[in-house]
Amino acid sequence: MAKITISAIKADVGSIGGHTCPSEALIQKVKDLVKSESKNLLIDHYIGYTGDDIHILMTHRHGISSKDIHKIAWDSFTEGTKVAKEQGLYGAGQDLLKDAFSGNVKGMGPGVAEIELEERPSEVFCIFAADKTEPGAFNFPLWRMFVDARSNTGLIINEELAKGVHMKIMDVITGKIADLKLWNDKAEVEAALMYPGRYVVDSVLSHNGEQIVSCSTDRLHNIAGTYVGKDDPIAIVRTQKNFPATEEVGSAFNNPHIVAGNTRGSHHMPLMPVKLNSAASINYAIPIVSCLVFSMHNGKLVGPHDGFGTVDWDYQRMLASERAQMMRVQGFVHPATLVPEELEYNKGYEARMARLGEKFK
Ligand SMILES: [Mg+2]
Repeated sequence: MAKITISAIKADVGSIGGHTCPSEALIQKVKDLVKSESKNLLIDHYIGYTGDDIHILMTHRHGISSKDIHKIAWDSFTEGTKVAKEQGLYGAGQDLLKDAFSGNVKGMGPGVAEIELEERPSEVFCIFAADKTEPGAFNFPLWRMFVDARSNTGLIINEELAKGVHMKIMDVITGKIADLKLWNDKAEVEAALMYPGRYVVDSVLSHNGEQIVSCSTDRLHNIAGTYVGKDDPIAIVRTQKNFPATEEVGSAFNNPHIVAGNTRGSHHMPLMPVKLNSAASINYAIPIVSCLVFSMHNGKLVGPHDGFGTVDWDYQRMLASERAQMMRVQGFVHPATLVPEELEYNKGYEARMARLGEKFK
């Protein structure tokens, strides 16, 4: 029997009144399409959203980068775009950068995280789906899960985790990937993770090569040549047994850290953990992340349990709100705004600087 593959594919194909959330009709269209195209291909699937991004989670036996599986997502987002246009939703089809499907949605706009695995008797995993931020937003939580014993005691008392993991880190400008091994390469891992706009965790493997984490690593502006949308990431993190406990993974988001993104993709704000199917906030579009917790057996899903839905996470939401407020006091002045190279709508910035340049005598 072929191994099970988990495919999480996400895209923003339109939202209500700006960059808030997809409409019910849009979500329903995507659900209908996935259901009708899934016959004989998928074992199971789940569809939800975080802010303006719809995620399609699929389980199957066709391996990673399967043309048939990616086509289900592409066709669903394409049909969803038609609904978005009919309804006048904002940014209809914004993450679909190509006109025709070419066999793999990677590089075509949608974000993709996939893991092919030998199912454990109790296969459990989390999906983290973020909005209003950048791919590197998961760097710091992943460091807390796999490098920081202060965040995760399992790194000391779990025999397998104590041996250290492989962390594969992508340079998003060159597209090259470095395979770094803890604990020997700890300083190099941390040197890369210092700059989440440039270096992004692509995947994490156990010391003996079992894949624990897969993250989406496409940067839309590298695909399109110009800024077309946020690079909102999605990640699959397997938990329990030889991997971090589910609560060691979830709690890595319990101290909202500052990430790039939010309004005009041009600012720094804290990453707020939110409940499943939450809209993005119109309070300057605070970056958000949701956590879908699943059990799986023979590819059949149970869940999602809402990882950030319990009452204690209201406190983290308050922390994030306070930090967001603190950052917004700073207004347009860096570090509230990004460095010039990272300003996503930087054509306007370039125009301002050109006029300013003429005035320097
Ligand atoms: Mg988004």
